[in-house]
Amino acid sequence: MHRLSLYLAFALVCLGTSTAAEPILNIYSARHYPSDEALYGDFTKSTGIRINRVDSDDAGILARLKAEGTGSPADLILLVDASRLWKGEVEGMFQPIKSKILDQAVPPQLRGKAGSDGSTAWFAFSTRARIVVYDKTTVQRTELDTYEALADPKHKGRLCIRSGSHPYNLSLFGAMLEHLGEAKTQLWLKGLVDNMARAPKGGDTDQIRSVAAGECAVAVTNSYYLARIMRSDKAEDKAIMARLGVVFPNQASWGTHLNIAGGAVAKHAKNPANAIRFLEYLATPGAQAHFADGNNEWPVAKGVQIKNEALQTMSGGSFKADAISISAIGINQIKVQQLLDRVGFR
Ligand code: FE
Repeated sequence: MHRLSLYLAFALVCLGTSTAAEPILNIYSARHYPSDEALYGDFTKSTGIRINRVDSDDAGILARLKAEGTGSPADLILLVDASRLWKGEVEGMFQPIKSKILDQAVPPQLRGKAGSDGSTAWFAFSTRARIVVYDKTTVQRTELDTYEALADPKHKGRLCIRSGSHPYNLSLFGAMLEHLGEAKTQLWLKGLVDNMARAPKGGDTDQIRSVAAGECAVAVTNSYYLARIMRSDKAEDKAIMARLGVVFPNQASWGTHLNIAGGAVAKHAKNPANAIRFLEYLATPGAQAHFADGNNEWPVAKGVQIKNEALQTMSGGSFKADAISISAIGINQIKVQQLLDRVGFR
């Protein structure tokens, strides 16, 4: 924690220290994917706009924007969770974006609120599915074809899942609350707690590895973490994949939960035009294909050709995604946290 604050303080000093003639773009990013470096480099090469970047998590970035107020050097905000994008929007941390390019590229359901002047609060540029993996030696695929089934008593002692308060889980649970209502969602969350093989710890990759190690038999993960292991040449990762089955839950009902990564222009941006230019760059076919090939995310723009065998294999080529609105997931966050407290899901 302390190290992080020091780093952020240092990064702040570095931000904005450009010579007068040099165009810059100050990004606060919650993306933690090394493959993104190529995108930043490519953008600077083609536009001459130098990028300064502060890395933190979604909550850290929103707290920092609030604390900095009008003095914030941030131009562009990149977040990796639907409910945090929604939160930034409703708390007034973004300024409206007007861009014909983004309007054309990004489907309406993957955007923030529209203004009466034709502007938009933020745009998603990639999606990821929250899926289930299981140990093929002990569990049948048909026992796990819905999120609801994760709470079935027959899976007692089998489940590995990261903290309930992590944004990836909060957004999934917010969607469940919308579909099931409060009483059923509370029962479902209680069922997850009762089925845990261990108290929540670690990230999604840790849950996948724990299934392969036999510590648990079922885990919840974002799709790109699984794809990384699928694409790895390491013997240990090949051994993991030999033991794992994958399910895209709720194909016969409302569809698999999708989360998004998206970008917004900071309310007090000093370089808003550069920020929009970067978002437009992220919507180009080249950058969109890079999200798929580099970080195993699905592009948002229509007609983008992706060459990613892992994504094809895990999803069977295509899948039904939950069409629930992002604002519904966002609005449900406070209630979800209350339910988690009630059932003791840490
Ligand atoms: Fe992640």
